[in-house]
Amino acid sequence: MKVVVLGAGVVGTASAWYLAKAGHEVTVLDRQPDAAMETSFANGGQISASHAEPWANPGAPLKILKWLMREDAPLLFRLRADLAQWEWGLRFLIECLPGRTRNNIAQIVALATYGRDQLRALRSETGIEYDHLERGILHVYTDPREFDAAVVAAALMREFGCDRRVMSPGECVAVEPALKSSTLGIVGGTYTASDESGDACKFTQHLAKRCVERGVIFRYNTPIRELCAEKGRVAGVVLGEGGDGGAAETLIADAYVMALGSYSPLMLRRLGISVPVYPAKGYSITIPVADPAAAPTVSITDDAAKIVISRLGNRLRAAGTAELNGYNTAINKVRCEAIVKRTFELFPTAGDRSNIEFWAGLRPATPSNVPFVGRTRYPNLYLNTGHGTLGWTMACGSGRAIADIVSGVRPEVGFRFCMV
Ligand SMILES: Cc1cc2nc3c(=O)[nH]c(=O)nc-3n(C[C@H](O)[C@H](O)[C@H](O)COP(=O)(O)OP(=O)(O)OC[C@H]3O[C@@H](n4cnc5c(N)ncnc54)[C@H](O)[C@@H]3O)c2cc1C
Repeated sequence: MKVVVLGAGVVGTASAWYLAKAGHEVTVLDRQPDAAMETSFANGGQISASHAEPWANPGAPLKILKWLMREDAPLLFRLRADLAQWEWGLRFLIECLPGRTRNNIAQIVALATYGRDQLRALRSETGIEYDHLERGILHVYTDPREFDAAVVAAALMREFGCDRRVMSPGECVAVEPALKSSTLGIVGGTYTASDESGDACKFTQHLAKRCVERGVIFRYNTPIRELCAEKGRVAGVVLGEGGDGGAAETLIADAYVMALGSYSPLMLRRLGISVPVYPAKGYSITIPVADPAAAPTVSITDDAAKIVISRLGNRLRAAGTAELNGYNTAINKVRCEAIVKRTFELFPTAGDRSNIEFWAGLRPATPSNVPFVGRTRYPNLYLNTGHGTLGWTMACGSGRAIADIVSGVRPEVGFRFCMV
């Protein structure tokens, strides 16, 4: 079959890889000059299948209320006259109910674990290099109450098959010796040895090259205007800028996979499909490593600040915080400075402070953090979008699953595939 994949982020590119492996003729479209130039460009780098709790949980509403007026809040709703944002917020509250949270965790862990397994298989098949480390993820706590809650959460994750171990401050330093210089009082941690880290952008760009070797066509600098429908099917994808931006071209295929990240709902709305995917802006800083021994190799999640820190070769990447503020990638200095400050409190001599790169990206967030992977009422239109905080972790799993679904094969992973 001829399949068009819309979007060359980590999710679209992984979809293209598995579709090509299944024998399809694949074309990938993206408005950027290369793969992974938007949200997949500089994320936190974690493959965190065992640290997969969604933002929406019973404790979240109170915390978010407390954070509402704080410019440096880890999770900030900037209330706007935007119906999509309010609808998203209401659905988020529903997903905070204990039963919903538990159900969502089960879905997320299933797809994230499958994603990690598929990534490992892809790595051994291709030898692809992306500064990856298999040193696990250590979640550290500085607030005793948060740590007590984490002990309960770790037990819950173990019920879902995750190898999450509770650790004393001393054990945390034994796992990651660079923490010994931390100026923060770490009260404990939880560690998952099987989680990984690596550079999602490098991975995606290298995978795009492997896809090309398999015959996939990547059309960059190609804005997608809309999908058009006829007789209940998608009839083509219209390319080119809207308005006066030049002549349009229509590309026709047998099947279409929507992987436009945060922009998917805008494109789907024109077909009458509504999916609650809303952009959740996050920031990252990338710092050259100054002292390798003082920079962690175990990927770190700092619970209080909601940031993750991953070692990517000779760089340190710290990323996190979320701001629901529409399609806006402007860099907010206060929020970035909060990440810088916290990173250097944890690892005071690890990096070169004079040379920090700042970045902001829009997570395609669903209220539950469960992505939309599956079918639509248009029999030739498939979704692979809304991966929120875990798009890098899940990309190979949901890419493989969508390729199976397009090929008429039952996916191996037990997951609630969508039909919208
Ligand atoms: C600060 C931060 C930290 C994160 N940390 C982690 C982490 O540690 N681990 C993890 O698993 N995940 C993490 N994530 C989440 C992860 O980065 C995302 O879920 C993932 O990158 C989403 O990939 P995607 O392919 O769906 O979207 P994107 O990468 O945004 O890809 C969508 C593509 O569609 C293209 N596009 C959009 N509209 C159009 C159009 N009209 N025409 C043509 N092309 C178009 C864009 O150019 C883009 O390339 C983090 C995210 C952020 C922001």
